Amino acid sequence: MEWETVIGLEIHAQLSTTSKIFSGAATAYGAAPNTQACAVDIALPGVLPVMNKGAVERAIKFGLAIGANINRESVFARKNYFYPDLPKGYQISQYELPIVGKGDITIQVGDQEKVVGITRAHLEEDAGKSLHEDFHGMTGVDLNRASTPLLEIVSEPDMRSSAEAVAYAKTMHSLVQYLDICDGNMQEGSFRCDANVSVRPKGTEKFGTRCEIKNLNSFRFLERAIEYEVVRQIDILESGGKIAQETRLYDSDKDETRAMRSKEEAFDYRYFPDPDLLPMKLSAEMIAEIQKTLPELPDAKRRRFIQQYGLSSYDAAVLTATKAMAAYFENVVNSVGAPNAKTAANWVMGDLAGVLKRDSLEITHSPVPADKLAGLVARIADNTISGKIAKEVFEAMWNGEGDADAIIESKGLKQITDSGAIEKIIDGIIAANPEQLAQYRSGKDKLFSFFVGQAMKATQGKANPQQLHDLLKKKLAG
Ligand code: ADP
Ligand code: MG
Repeated sequence: MEWETVIGLEIHAQLSTTSKIFSGAATAYGAAPNTQACAVDIALPGVLPVMNKGAVERAIKFGLAIGANINRESVFARKNYFYPDLPKGYQISQYELPIVGKGDITIQVGDQEKVVGITRAHLEEDAGKSLHEDFHGMTGVDLNRASTPLLEIVSEPDMRSSAEAVAYAKTMHSLVQYLDICDGNMQEGSFRCDANVSVRPKGTEKFGTRCEIKNLNSFRFLERAIEYEVVRQIDILESGGKIAQETRLYDSDKDETRAMRSKEEAFDYRYFPDPDLLPMKLSAEMIAEIQKTLPELPDAKRRRFIQQYGLSSYDAAVLTATKAMAAYFENVVNSVGAPNAKTAANWVMGDLAGVLKRDSLEITHSPVPADKLAGLVARIADNTISGKIAKEVFEAMWNGEGDADAIIESKGLKQITDSGAIEKIIDGIIAANPEQLAQYRSGKDKLFSFFVGQAMKATQGKANPQQLHDLLKKKLAG
């Protein structure tokens, strides 16, 4: 039987406020355990939560960006469960009335576009952390993370493959960073996904029973976990078994998912409105003010790049993946002019991205800044150097040897465009290789590249490739 995968994602994005969602304690990552947990966070008797306006503003910003309805009144609820890293015995979350209602987002999978529905997004507090590795035979509890603001973004079960799920997660990851509401740091847990996965016979309507894989903190783990889970579920169903609805963990060392607990239902949590927090009412003015602060969103930027610079949809998607990369690219184009946008795009996505990755650098810390790369692209555009020689120049720029013009000058890399000079070189090569010439003229076309190679060698790669090609064709024909 052929099976179809169905995936819905819950994403937890830590909101980038300096203080916590219900207390004044700091949210900064990496402090010594329990140094950033105040009386509210550790749930001493008699304390009361106070809503952080910065968290609310960020949630609204997100809602507006996905075209969702912002609920003018929303309610905080207690989600009751027991765990050592949750000192209150409940998590303050939103249940029946979340701040952000239905919206959607467009994702790009290969060269296909797809719209994924967002069911809701709600505000909640994070829990602390249990430290299982630091103390032998014991578990430590660090409450620094307790009460850090989270936006939980729940998608519709609209994705049909791990590739779509990864594309969706990447799009969200890029969006929250564009909006400046989350730092997106996945290693530090600022952005993590739960994947709900089920399978159904292809062509049928009814969803299969899902499993939820918790806390995936890299795109690669998200992909691997889904792939493993799909195979596991199909195996069970094809051998006549049933899928148990459960929460599972992905073990990246073993590359498999494991059952964690059977799935709890909403009633297990005994949700009820938190009596310590009033229903949250938002004014139309507040929402309108936030609307004004929305930046150009990735999707709009991508469309503009296609239209304004004539880029392919793929190139535009790569270049707008982060705000910093898009800004870098536009700085290069502003200086070399839109007709050279494609060359600029190739350099940013190719050589530059390659060395940034190799040297683990962010584009904002590139040793070759945008105006310097523009200097190189300009020399390719005006035929001073060929694209091939440009790679050598770029490597030297990267190593701090100066800007493009200085390097071209000092290394003597200027392209030879004087056709008389190129002709002379060709004549010499033809004269020195009579045998190859005869073979070429008797139909061995492949030898053309032999002559190109000889000429390039003679000019240290500096002959203008197009001129060389044309002149060689002419001369070899006799
Ligand atoms: P819960 O709190 O029980 O996890 P939520 O409503 O918060 O429930 O989240 C459910 C998530 O699971 C959503 O992202 C939804 O799209 C997804 N989902 C629901 N049913 C299925 C299914 N049969 N297969 C895959 N994903 C599903
Ligand atoms: Mg869930």
